[in-house]
Amino acid sequence: MTKHTKKVGVTGKYGVRYGASIRKQLKRIEAPQHARYLCPFCGKNSIKRASTGIWHCGGCNKTIAGGAYLFSTPAANTARSTLRRLRDLKEGRA
Ligand SMILES: [Zn+2]
Repeated sequence: MTKHTKKVGVTGKYGVRYGASIRKQLKRIEAPQHARYLCPFCGKNSIKRASTGIWHCGGCNKTIAGGAYLFSTPAANTARSTLRRLRDLKEGRA
């Protein structure tokens, strides 16, 4: 098992290699990759990354498409809010 401290987190696997600042930058990318996310279907905090862009919920066994390293990307959030806005607009006029 690799060392995993509070300071270095998931990048502890790299030891002293690649330089401190680069490992710090990488932590920002790698930490959310291994984090668990809240499932929009069952509300459980059990979504894990299965593969690139593929997220799987252990609670309801659903597989969801998401970002490569993050469950939800800024682009996905923008698309979702735009869709919602347009839907509200449509329903308001109907
Ligand atoms: Zn679920």
